[in-house]
Amino acid sequence: MDQTSYIEISKSAYNHNIKYLRKIVGKDVRISSVVKGNAYGHGVNIIVPLAEKAKINHFSVFSASEALDVFNVANPKSDIMIMGYLNDEQLEWAIENEIEFYVFDMERLEKAVELAAAIRKPARIHIEAETGFNRTGFEYEKMPEVVNFIKDNQDHLILEGLCTHYAGAESITNHYRVINQIKNYRQFHRYLTRHELKPRFKHTAGSAASLTYPQTIMDMVRIGISQYGFWPTQETFIYQFKRNQAKDSDLKRVISWKTRIMSIKEVDSGDFVGYGTSYMANKKVKIAIIPVGYTNGFSRSLSNMGRVLIRGKRVPVVGTVTMNTMNVNVTDIPNVQLGDEVVLIGKQNRLNISIASFSEMSNQLNYQTLARLPGNIPRNVVY
Ligand SMILES: *Cc1c(COP(=O)(O)O)cnc(C)c1O
Repeated sequence: MDQTSYIEISKSAYNHNIKYLRKIVGKDVRISSVVKGNAYGHGVNIIVPLAEKAKINHFSVFSASEALDVFNVANPKSDIMIMGYLNDEQLEWAIENEIEFYVFDMERLEKAVELAAAIRKPARIHIEAETGFNRTGFEYEKMPEVVNFIKDNQDHLILEGLCTHYAGAESITNHYRVINQIKNYRQFHRYLTRHELKPRFKHTAGSAASLTYPQTIMDMVRIGISQYGFWPTQETFIYQFKRNQAKDSDLKRVISWKTRIMSIKEVDSGDFVGYGTSYMANKKVKIAIIPVGYTNGFSRSLSNMGRVLIRGKRVPVVGTVTMNTMNVNVTDIPNVQLGDEVVLIGKQNRLNISIASFSEMSNQLNYQTLARLPGNIPRNVVY
C-alpha cells in the first residue's frame, strides 16, 4: 500500500446513482456494472460488493486479468463479461469458469467451440456487431458464416448476447453516425431472428447512449462512468435536464481523494519553485509540499494548473508536479499547518474539486484521471 494519500468511496452516493440510473433505463432492464480499469480507479474489490448490495449481478471488463479480479470478489452467482482481449489460455479459463466474452472474429469463435467441446462446458458468447465504430465486431457480410457455425455447434455455445458500441453518443455532433449504428444493429438482429437464433440479451448502450438515446437501452445496458457519479459530458446532462428536469445532483461523485501536507516553507520574492523555471515567486510566498505526484496519479500536465483544497480554500499548484510531490501556494491560508488535510478530488467545507475542474479541457479526461489512480492507494468505504 502507498500510504501517501487515500481514497474514500461513498456508499450512499453510489446507491443514489444506481437508483437514478434504474429510473432512467427502466426497472426491467439489466444493468451491467462496467468495472474495467480497476472500476475506473475506484477499486474493483470495493465497487463489486457495493454493486451487488444494490442488486447488480452483471459485471463488464476488458481483459481476462480484470475478469479474474472481479471473479475473486464477486458473488459466485454474479455474471462476468469480457469485452476485449483474451489469449487462448485465458479463453479456456473463461469457459471453464462460465465467464462470458465477446466474439468478434471467426478465429475466436472456432477456438471457443474447440475448447468448449474439449472441457465439456458451453462457451457463453456475445456476438459483437460492427455497426460503425470500426474497432472490433463482425462485418454484416460475415453473418451467414457466423450463424451457420453457431447453429452447427449449438451444444457448445450459449448465445448470451448480441452487442455493439456507439462511436460518440455523448455528443450531438455524432448524431447521424449513432442513428446509423442503431439501424445497422437492428439489421444484425433481424438476421439472427430470421435464422432462429435468439440472443438472451440485446445490449448496445453505455452511459451516454442510455442517457440520450432511449431506443438503445434494449435488454441490458453497460454502465461505466455514470454509476461513479459523472455525466459523460455536459451535453448528456443538458439532454436529461430538458427531457426529465434532471438536476446536477442526480448523479453524485462517489470518489474522494485526499492527502496531508508534508512540509511547509517560505520562498523569497524572485526565487523559483521546483524543477526548472516554470514558477517564480513574485513576492514572498508560503509553499506547502504535498506527497502526491504523477506516479500517484496526479498528472504532470497539472503543473501550474491544478487546484487542491486546504482549510476550506482553493489553492493553486505551483511549479512542476514531480514523480512523488507537488507544491501548492498556501500564502493566503492563515494558520496552515503540517498534517492539514489536502483534498485532491472531493469536498471540503463548501468547496468542491471535481475532476473536471482540473481537466476542463475535455470530459474524457475524467475517465483518464480516474483510471490512472494507482491500485495501491488505500481505499475505504464511507457513508
Ligand atoms: C467502457 C465501455 C462501456 C462503458 O462506458 P461508459 O461511458 O463509462 O458508461 C460500455 N461498453 C463498452 C464496450 C465499453 O468499452
